[in-house]
Amino acid sequence: MLRDEALDALIPYLTSQVGAAIREKKDASEMQSIAQVFGALHLAQGNLPNAEEFLHRFTTTLGPVIYPSLDLATSPTRHLVLVHECQHVVQFYKDPLVFPPKYLADKEYRAGKEAQAILAQLEVSHWLTGKIPTVRTDLPRGIAYGYALNPEDILFAQRILEVGMTMTSNGVYATEVGKIATKWLNQNAHELYHGCAY
Ligand SMILES: [Zn+2]
Repeated sequence: MLRDEALDALIPYLTSQVGAAIREKKDASEMQSIAQVFGALHLAQGNLPNAEEFLHRFTTTLGPVIYPSLDLATSPTRHLVLVHECQHVVQFYKDPLVFPPKYLADKEYRAGKEAQAILAQLEVSHWLTGKIPTVRTDLPRGIAYGYALNPEDILFAQRILEVGMTMTSNGVYATEVGKIATKWLNQNAHELYHGCAY
């Protein structure tokens, strides 16, 4: 099986396991409203995406619903982005009343949840490639932009990721989604283990 064939099959399995639904961003009126809010915030606060970027480049998850960015379908990392979002759905179901407001209001909480979702992505890419990113300081770049975090929150996320990546490099997958995904890959696409490029 080719990598993308396996990952195309993995994603529906993952979403069913974690109870996620995928909805197109362009069809969702709630996403257009959020995009307008991002546009307004972008004017006030430079380190957030503007409305266009939000719709095209940012995949968003609200509760159990994942809204892929408009550019995601053609992105080479689309599967890993959806793995990341599935981990957010797990976070939501663990604490459905607390997670959404706290994620928005509390930067340290948000940084921790993002680190965990990034770790889920890294676990799946480690299973596929046998590698973890070599430049660890590059990792927080993704969370430095778009989440309005303070430097200390970014450092906090980086620490979580460093611990997680040490486990990952030893083949220990800690996140719920990383465990479900790698178990499925072991059972259904074992020939790809550590043999893929990304
Ligand atoms: Zn995230």
